[in-house]
Amino acid sequence: MTVAKRTAIRAGYVIAFDGKGHRLLRDGVVVVEGDNILHVGPRFDGRVDETVDAPDRVLTPGLISTHAHISGSPLDRSFIEDCGNPQFWFSGLFEMLPVRSDSQDEEAGRACVDFSMAELLRGGVTTVMEIGTLGDYVVERAPHYGLRVYMGQAFRSGKWLTRDGKRVVWEWNEEQGRQGLTRAMDFHQRWDGAHGDLVRCFVSPSQIDTCTPELLKDAKRFADEVKRPYQVHTSQSVVEFNEMVARHGKTPIAWMKELGVLGQNTVLGHAIIIGGSSWTNYPDGDIRHVAGHRHQSAERDRGHALGRRGLEDDGTEHGGDHGRPRLRRCHPRRSARAPA
Ligand SMILES: [Zn+2]
Repeated sequence: MTVAKRTAIRAGYVIAFDGKGHRLLRDGVVVVEGDNILHVGPRFDGRVDETVDAPDRVLTPGLISTHAHISGSPLDRSFIEDCGNPQFWFSGLFEMLPVRSDSQDEEAGRACVDFSMAELLRGGVTTVMEIGTLGDYVVERAPHYGLRVYMGQAFRSGKWLTRDGKRVVWEWNEEQGRQGLTRAMDFHQRWDGAHGDLVRCFVSPSQIDTCTPELLKDAKRFADEVKRPYQVHTSQSVVEFNEMVARHGKTPIAWMKELGVLGQNTVLGHAIIIGGSSWTNYPDGDIRHVAGHRHQSAERDRGHALGRRGLEDDGTEHGGDHGRPRLRRCHPRRSARAPA
């Protein structure tokens, strides 16, 4: 009988779990035996075959990125976020993102997927929620990298654009949205649980301002049926926030509540421009709408708008990084430049 090799990793900081919550362990040790974690604690007195000393490192369980666009993100950097137009409150969504998307072919998208998967792992992410349209390729590559993937095949019933650089307009194609949801449902049947459950699916109508209420509700119903997450880009720009207030007389999040699409499986993509934010100059209240649902707001790096209170009151998790495993915290003003 072969005995599995035991490796002890001593790290300056260990993010440990004591059965109730996570704990920061100073100068801790993690012992791995084969594929299993044998021990986590301040010391280990048993036999080990190898010891790795990492006194200046943080040893942590794999990070979960709840919002990424790995088939495009590597190309966004310094292009979407640093080129925002003040006319659109510094968001690059309306001018820059369509240019990047339309100039990119499928081969480039595949290269981005491979680049991003390696980069995510290198940054400590072991589970990613990907939103995009290259689902088949993402599913194919997940076992190659050993990355756990939740794939959200994106769909929408409209798109935004600007013709003059001054005003954003929305063009609608309801039929396209319906077909997109059908395709996403087919995708789910085909791939959910693939590669020994390494890959799961979730339901992702693209943006709150580009989907009809019927599409949003039908998609939520499906997500509830299959017991998977539901994620929509919501409150991600001042332009979107103002448009939703003009359409419905309420904030994007308040409108989601009215539609009945908030819930424990709902992830709010970004949610940085909300009622109560200085960028909206609109009364607060959005936090109350999500309180009690334990929503996740996918906005780890830029998580300023919901603030600490939001994190503590409703269990909101900030997680969106568009595939970039960065740890820096952005200045709030720059935070608004968040790509779709
Ligand atoms: Zn996004």
